[in-house]
Amino acid sequence: MEKVTEYFGSMVFDDRIMKATLSEKVYKSLKRTIDMGTPLDISVANAVAAAMKDWAIEKGATHYTHWFQPMTGVTAEKHDSFISPAPDGRVIMEFSGKELVKGEPDASSFPSGGLRATFEARGYTAWDPTSYAFIKDGTLYIPTAFCSYSGEALDKKVPLLRSMEAINKQALRILRLFGNDKVRCVKTSVGPEQEYFLVPKEMFDKRKDLIMTGRTLFGAAPPKGQEMDDHYFGSIKPKVAEYMADLDKELWKLGILAKTKHNEVAPAQHELAPIYSTTNIAADNNQLTMEIMKKVAARHGLVCLLHEKPFAGVNGSGKHNNWSISTDTGVNLLAPGETPYENAQFLLFLAAVIKAVDDYQDLLRLSVATAGNDHRLGANEAPPAVISIFLGDELTEILEAIENDTEYSGGKKEKMQLGVDVLPQFSKDTTDRNRTSPFAFTGNKFEFRMLGSSNSISCANIHLNGAVAEVLKQFADKLEKSTDFNRDLHELIRQTIKDHKRIIFNDNGYDEKWIEEAEKRGLSNLRTTADCMPRICDPKNVKMLTEHEIFTEAEILSRRDIMLENYIKTVNIEALTMIDMARKEIIPAVAKFTSDTAYAVSLKTSVSDAACKYEKRLVSELSQLIDDMDSAATSLQSAVDELHGIFDVVKAAEYVRDSILPKMDDLRKPADKAETLTAEDYYPFPTYDKLLFGVN
Ligand code: ADP
Ligand code: MG
Repeated sequence: MEKVTEYFGSMVFDDRIMKATLSEKVYKSLKRTIDMGTPLDISVANAVAAAMKDWAIEKGATHYTHWFQPMTGVTAEKHDSFISPAPDGRVIMEFSGKELVKGEPDASSFPSGGLRATFEARGYTAWDPTSYAFIKDGTLYIPTAFCSYSGEALDKKVPLLRSMEAINKQALRILRLFGNDKVRCVKTSVGPEQEYFLVPKEMFDKRKDLIMTGRTLFGAAPPKGQEMDDHYFGSIKPKVAEYMADLDKELWKLGILAKTKHNEVAPAQHELAPIYSTTNIAADNNQLTMEIMKKVAARHGLVCLLHEKPFAGVNGSGKHNNWSISTDTGVNLLAPGETPYENAQFLLFLAAVIKAVDDYQDLLRLSVATAGNDHRLGANEAPPAVISIFLGDELTEILEAIENDTEYSGGKKEKMQLGVDVLPQFSKDTTDRNRTSPFAFTGNKFEFRMLGSSNSISCANIHLNGAVAEVLKQFADKLEKSTDFNRDLHELIRQTIKDHKRIIFNDNGYDEKWIEEAEKRGLSNLRTTADCMPRICDPKNVKMLTEHEIFTEAEILSRRDIMLENYIKTVNIEALTMIDMARKEIIPAVAKFTSDTAYAVSLKTSVSDAACKYEKRLVSELSQLIDDMDSAATSLQSAVDELHGIFDVVKAAEYVRDSILPKMDDLRKPADKAETLTAEDYYPFPTYDKLLFGVN
């Protein structure tokens, strides 16, 4: 068997390959671009393209593609072969620096939220040298950014890179204030933990709802769900283990650091976590991971469900975004550090994150908003739609001591004076585990847990980076003018804690009482996509995002419209699928069973005077449920018709929230009840028990 160390990254044009295949001059120049963002010379691009092509052809590749991340949520690619005609009728394999650096896909079929109405249909893809090219299925994949003719971002990578630049700029200003002039750049890192479900392919294929929408729209609760807690971290079934092993291998070949795998809480639910990397690379890798997860599943007769809520009644799937900021000198700015000096700097960054999360609760909430994720947030299984921060007892006590100028009992018995030299030490592992917090400090990073399993991690990180960059800017503006750094630093941290401590909550976030308490604290509770998405256009958000050059105003508006349209379209498809399944599958099946039972009654009563109490009750109950389904389906259909007449996206999204979704519930209820009364043989598709316990 091949060793992992041998095939890891074998399909990636990584640093090792660059070093081996490029001249020293070209390599150094490319490295400068990767590390410092310096512009790339075309002669360097030509040399890199030639080396990439030779390497790719050696590995059996025939094509290349500019791989990008339009606003659809999935990645896009168009393949071009390397061939070019030679005078003798044969072909040569060519790939120029120009082709590497820039592509021109027709952008007209990607969502642009109105950006294209004012600009050309043409879109450009531009090579992102900070993310390695790789080979998949005989094609050389070049990670690229996607923008319009006039430079408007049409994707998720461009704003993510811009947000990383914003935080870099502001964090450097802060570091300089602490006398640190060695650091040349600051980057955010992310380790995204990915949850998913596996179901048997032959069962998946029998369910229109799974095929069309990725989730079940009908289904009564099975006799057993997750109540025994026997699945979480349970031993992995052989078929699943084979899948996971195959998946690891595919990911490792692509240089993705798949590290941890285990069973999750719900039956058929699992998790995969990579080792963290620079946010931009983590985002690319997570997109690729999701794609490979689905592809590998097909080879094993399985389907990998990445929907946030494939099944009612058991946990949905999320994605935990473990986030930190570190310097090119290897210092994690969210690590409490060993010395008081580092502590003060850490506490300033900590205060910045606290303020950022409080000031931009709405932006963080809406960065994870989709129709799918709305089913999770606020249910008793995922963090609520209210954003709060978990810090753990020790850090909270330290912050309280600073705020009130009182003694910190965990450290030396003296008042906390936050100069760079008089801060007591505190232990590094300061946090307990709290699984219910949407935004938890976990020792040297924050874990943002609201992301849905199918979300691109880009949106969450764009807004998080932007919010923190903005607060760091405010801090730097203040402290750069200071004449007494220690005093002003202390005062700034104290005041920030005082103003923003309402966002800190260390208890059970799933508790109903917390929602009441949060309301009293004035925290926002934006339950649905329709509630939160329009907030991206609030003046404070537009100001922050434009000032840090993360988005233009036009891009912000376009994103709001794209995300709302996505919400509306998703629910519209779900509603139509429900009507279709109810009318063509469920009602006919239940009606058949009902009439067979009624026929049995007439047969029985014709030969004896049996009361047939059971059958009669069944027939009457089922007949009622059929009528209920029929009228609920009719009512849902007219709501859908009405929706199609609403052209304002915000109003349409509200209509989806207020009318379509409740009417979908109205249809589901009698259908699920009918399922429990109908003989299994009559039922037209596999039920929850089979789907959830079908992989063995
Ligand atoms: P869990 O939260 O399930 O206990 P871990 O503590 O193992 O999981 O970490 C989960 C994820 O956090 C992993 O992807 C890991 O690589 C990532 N991670 C660890 N340290 C950092 C860091 N400093 N910055 C960003 N991500 C990190
Ligand atoms: Mg975790």
